[in-house]
Amino acid sequence: MQSLWGATATPAFTLPELKGSARSQVLIIGAGYTGLSAALHLCEAGVDVVVIDAAELGEGGSGLNGGQVIPGVKHDPDTLEQMFGAGPGAQLVETVASGPDLVFGLIRKYQIDCEATRNGWIQPATSESALTAISVRVEQWRRRGAPVELLDRVQIARLIGSERYCGGWLDHRGGTVQPRSFLFGLARAVARLGGRIFTRSAAIKLEQFGGQWRIETPRGQVIAPATILATDAYSGELLDAVRRTVIPVPSFQVATEPLPPALRQSILPQGQGASDTWHLLRYFRLSADGRLVMGSRGFFGSTPEATAARHHYRAVQEIFPQLQGVRYDYHWGGLVAMTGDHLPHLHELAPGMLAGLGYNGRGVAMAIVMGRLLARRVLGVSAEELGFPVTPVRPIALHRFSQIGVRLAIEYLQLVATLERARARARLAWQRDAA
Ligand SMILES: Cc1cc2nc3c(=O)[nH]c(=O)nc-3n(C[C@H](O)[C@H](O)[C@H](O)COP(=O)(O)OP(=O)(O)OC[C@H]3O[C@@H](n4cnc5c(N)ncnc54)[C@H](O)[C@@H]3O)c2cc1C
Repeated sequence: MQSLWGATATPAFTLPELKGSARSQVLIIGAGYTGLSAALHLCEAGVDVVVIDAAELGEGGSGLNGGQVIPGVKHDPDTLEQMFGAGPGAQLVETVASGPDLVFGLIRKYQIDCEATRNGWIQPATSESALTAISVRVEQWRRRGAPVELLDRVQIARLIGSERYCGGWLDHRGGTVQPRSFLFGLARAVARLGGRIFTRSAAIKLEQFGGQWRIETPRGQVIAPATILATDAYSGELLDAVRRTVIPVPSFQVATEPLPPALRQSILPQGQGASDTWHLLRYFRLSADGRLVMGSRGFFGSTPEATAARHHYRAVQEIFPQLQGVRYDYHWGGLVAMTGDHLPHLHELAPGMLAGLGYNGRGVAMAIVMGRLLARRVLGVSAEELGFPVTPVRPIALHRFSQIGVRLAIEYLQLVATLERARARARLAWQRDAA
């Protein structure tokens, strides 16, 4: 089934397939947010860039995601400082926090038509223990001057339109975009600055000769002194060690019909995006045409789409019982790249070859930041000045079996979630009987 974003994106322009031989100063493999952000920042610096993608624009995570612009990474700022030391850790916190400013700045600068809304991002808590962790997070960001608010049960119910949560936080830095229109806008900006983008042009062979990289595609080749790999969860055999640094985890979304005005005003009335703290987090937002879009992780290729969709309809009902009987118009899925340390990685694979990937479900802002980091590194910024660790490639141990491990963990969490739902229903019934 086509995704909501595919059906409602600003028109894509036709991009050619690479045929014959091309030369450029930098070749970028992968035309998602990472690759196009790198391309855009390089083009701005006057560098000649070629970008190639195996598929059509928008068929990777950047055209399929929830469009939630989330500041930061999974780890809290104090944790990052503990992991990397006070100086580099503080720099890293600043780098990852800059994502939403960069995203909305590019949208403004290149007048990207992508339904951008910057009313904040909400993380609602599904348990008291999650709320305790959130209050620590809020205090850490507040200490660093970030515009964040801790929310109690009543405040979160008003902001989300659901009684399901016991509190949460609102991060005013975040927002939402139509993810595929944002991607198309980036591509248009790259093309306007002279960057050349080719689709249906998979890199199938890579070799180095005389200080240059030669990348072969089915019907052409590119020769460039510098190459950036930006293939995230869709990394294939081309550079197998890089592929094995991430675990691709499926994420699935459904979208309702446009909601009637009264219902629309009762759900996320201020237009934020939200991702909750449930074991298998659920993320939701309204689209510009007033549909509820909800997603979660963990449905594998072998799960029939109808089964995954039904699971999401139940989640919508549980969080927003007022949507009983609503029609669903779209469902779709994509792959999220998870890393062992829950951090994105910037690798220097060889002189003149970089890779950036592994956003753990927070790539809308972070991949754009990564693209800028990769561009700056190509332009000669030292690893120390970058504000982000440049790390060696460390494939995940027993990567071949990781899919099985993730599947088992997810099935276990789905079972826990089902049991908790049954327990909550029984508790409600008991309270009703007692009243
Ligand atoms: C369903 C879903 C929901 C999500 N929701 C959110 C969200 O709400 N907020 C958030 O912050 N993040 C979210 N994410 C994560 C976010 O979408 C990704 O982190 C981000 O898009 C990664 O961008 P990228 O450019 O690195 O990779 P991608 O956009 O995946 O692009 C990689 C590209 O590489 C290409 N490629 C692979 N191999 C080759 C090759 N050999 N030659 C040429 N090209 C190749 C692929 O075709 C693909 O187009 C979500 C992801 C999914 C799947």
